[in-house]
Amino acid sequence: MTTSTLSPDESRTTAWHALTADEAARQLASPPEGLTDAEVARRREVFGANALPQRRPPTVFEVFLRQFTSPLIYVLLAAGIISLLFADFTDAVFIFIVILINAVIGTFQEVRAERSATALQQMLRIYAQVRRDGRDATVPAEDLVPGDRVSLESGDRIPADIRILRTRALTVDESLLTGESHAVGKKPDPVDASLPPGDRLNMLYAGSTVMSGRSTGIVVGTGRHTELGQIAETVAASEMGKPPLVLRMEDFSRKISIAVLAAAGLLAIIVLGQGMPPVEVFFLAVALAVSAIPEGLPIALTVALSVATSRMAGRNVIVRFLAAVESLGSCTLIASDKTGTLTVNQQTARVVALPTGEEFSVTGAGYTGEGEVLDESGAPVAGPDRHRLERLARAATICNEAGLELVGEGDWAHRGDAIDVAFLALTYKLGLDPGAIRADAPIVAEIPFESEQRYAAVWYREEDAVRVAVKGAVETVLPFCRTMAGEREGETPLDLDRVQEELDGLTSRGYRVLAVAHGHVEGPVPAESPEIPPLEVLGLVGFIDPIRPDVPDAVRRCRRAGVDVVMVTGDHPATALAIARELEIADSPDEVITGAELGDSEIPTFSEFIDRVKRGRVFARVTPLQKLRIVEAYRESGAFVAVTGDGVNDAPALRSANIGVAMGSGTDVAKDTASLIVTDDDFASIVAGIEEGRYAYDNVRKVVYLLISTGFAEVLLFMLALIVGLPLPLLAVQLLWLNLVTNGIQDVTLALEGGEPGVMDRSPRRPEEGIFNRLMIEETLLSGTVIALVALGAWYWLLSNGWDEFAARNLVVLLMVLFENFHVFNCRSEYQSAFRVPISRNYFLVAGVVAAQGVHILALYTPILRDILQVQPVSLVEWLSLLALASLVVVVMEVFKAVRKHHPQGHQTG
Ligand code: ADP
Ligand code: MG
Repeated sequence: MTTSTLSPDESRTTAWHALTADEAARQLASPPEGLTDAEVARRREVFGANALPQRRPPTVFEVFLRQFTSPLIYVLLAAGIISLLFADFTDAVFIFIVILINAVIGTFQEVRAERSATALQQMLRIYAQVRRDGRDATVPAEDLVPGDRVSLESGDRIPADIRILRTRALTVDESLLTGESHAVGKKPDPVDASLPPGDRLNMLYAGSTVMSGRSTGIVVGTGRHTELGQIAETVAASEMGKPPLVLRMEDFSRKISIAVLAAAGLLAIIVLGQGMPPVEVFFLAVALAVSAIPEGLPIALTVALSVATSRMAGRNVIVRFLAAVESLGSCTLIASDKTGTLTVNQQTARVVALPTGEEFSVTGAGYTGEGEVLDESGAPVAGPDRHRLERLARAATICNEAGLELVGEGDWAHRGDAIDVAFLALTYKLGLDPGAIRADAPIVAEIPFESEQRYAAVWYREEDAVRVAVKGAVETVLPFCRTMAGEREGETPLDLDRVQEELDGLTSRGYRVLAVAHGHVEGPVPAESPEIPPLEVLGLVGFIDPIRPDVPDAVRRCRRAGVDVVMVTGDHPATALAIARELEIADSPDEVITGAELGDSEIPTFSEFIDRVKRGRVFARVTPLQKLRIVEAYRESGAFVAVTGDGVNDAPALRSANIGVAMGSGTDVAKDTASLIVTDDDFASIVAGIEEGRYAYDNVRKVVYLLISTGFAEVLLFMLALIVGLPLPLLAVQLLWLNLVTNGIQDVTLALEGGEPGVMDRSPRRPEEGIFNRLMIEETLLSGTVIALVALGAWYWLLSNGWDEFAARNLVVLLMVLFENFHVFNCRSEYQSAFRVPISRNYFLVAGVVAAQGVHILALYTPILRDILQVQPVSLVEWLSLLALASLVVVVMEVFKAVRKHHPQGHQTG
């Protein structure tokens, strides 16, 4: 019965919810061991991939067309058309060519940015746990076909429409489909065929998420054949909106444009009064507007941010919202998870303590069953103690969702929760076989582990009785216990002090400690919400989870960069403190605050809460709700907070933080709300992200600096010439050439600058501080003024020393190109001497500068261009003299940087 003749239409019209689970499985031809690979391939042919058609990305041609939709281009087009009307063909052609070159440069950059965004989207695939050919496998959700048997757990996005086979405490958020935001409980029993999707409690629909519990089920609909597919024909390929920085810059460009147009208007009136022909006045106004409006800015920013996102991806940070790149530079505090982020989350049971005080050490590390359990004398444990340890291991194996198997010589395969795997390893080390233990213990009911509940329980049949196995945090499990494992079961009353002493001893050594207990049940056990009977505690197990090797250094780097690090964990306070000490996050127990101390029941006023939070560096045993409030408290007290999270219930904290960081191994829910995803879970990667974010912001500033200061220089040069009563130093076409061609070729290359060392020694940028801080204003005014004055001086000198206007203007244009070429090097660092910035950090820039100068020299020797631009070849001596003059802008800015370094005024921000 492994092949099915079901067609997509039949599959959609069948009321799967009205059938029994067995009947549904039969109709879908889905055997318990799952579909074979051949059958999967066949069904894929029939049903297609499990994906909704994506919205088509724009073609290169569309991007190209988009380049013409800017007010500036409209003005230029108008200018071109007016030239045509006045039969000034050369000018018209020139303007159109300039517009074209500009559009090509813009298209090239934008397509590149688009490509890297698509590549990032690819990394955000979701995966599904599926049973195929008798084996459990993880496959991309697109590969699912009807009849596949999938398992789901809390935090998973539901990958297809699914008929439920089995649930354990399952609740699901279906708000995307039904609009109802509360979680719905689900179970497998058939329901009435006429019920609408929202009421079919035995069905799971693509697009919903599992809020708690576990489930297995059979896929009944994929891709377009799902309920979601019926509503949404395509998915809006979660498009990254324009980041705020780009929006702000567009707004800024708009404001400048207005000011510039006003200034150009004023200038026009003046020159009209001086008798210039109106058409020329119009072109001049247009050209001046073009020089002063930083039209290259938005595209250069897009490039800078997109370069940053791909660099971050190379350092294991995926940016979901471009805004995060910018905000990373403002981060002042990271509230980090402990397990998996600061530590590797490769748990190994190291110590087992019986409730009566005997301690045993466990050898062997990692996820293998090789090792031994030794007593205090170092001999393999034997006798009644061994018997007691075996009981503990048995309970921890039954109450366990993981798998650990020997697949080859010394080769172990594992799957599932790290703590659970470590318990299985312990079972092997005691000489027991987890598979055999589980085969003898059919499960009756279950409370699956959820992080905030801190324990798990499994009811199972043993001979004629029902027993329960429990494991979890010691404080959570002990209240269920009446007795403790002694010589014989159920006879030794629980000695709380003794167990507590044992716990303190283990946690203060940094072990993550779990208690294991068991008990038996009289009477029947309900499958949903069973109750835990009085238990017997079997012992405590201490796990080590090594600190990630690069984290201590990352924490120190954070501190130097003015970013504080605190720890937020569900683990025991003493365990958390031991790790925090090793990382120098905290030192004394006073700095550890538990969830209970933060106040759960009688919630203190918010200001009181903030005070408590500010005392702490380590928050232990906190609930997701407390985590959210901790984030809010920090934000309220002025911090710019990045918070990490992986669980279902971390979503509110991730959303509320300035920067939500989800772990790559975390749940789909967490990833869907975070603005960054750290693929390797490593804290050090977050710090790398901060570093890249700072580089990106620095690069944005560099581009702004270049564009604004050169534009300012040109406007100033014109104003001064008018004031002094000199002829206008540049023609309209020459201004267009300078701004859209020569500078257009080199400006974007600044966005590709590699990181400047020392970014992580600066304090975070104040979030409210704009790009135009004091430093930016000073350097822009100074460099712009230098360029304008030198050019004006040259213009004056040439005219008064016998050069005619044509020849003098030819030299001034070349001088301006050389200024641009030199000034790019000033802009490479706002703090460091241009000579200290190695060329190797940005070969593109050198190429850009050479190309810009080269294009101009080419124009000097190309007859048509020569006529349009009103230029002519220059002698080597002239060229060298202008080169020397242009280098003045470097000299002045070098002095400026040196003076600033020795007399730092204000704050240095980046
Ligand atoms: P963390 O903040 O360190 O990631 P978790 O939320 O993963 O902590 O776990 C919280 C507590 O739940 C742990 O301290 C431990 O006592 C308990 N616990 C962790 N994993 C399991 C498990 N697989 N089964 C039962 N209890 C567990
Ligand atoms: Mg955890």
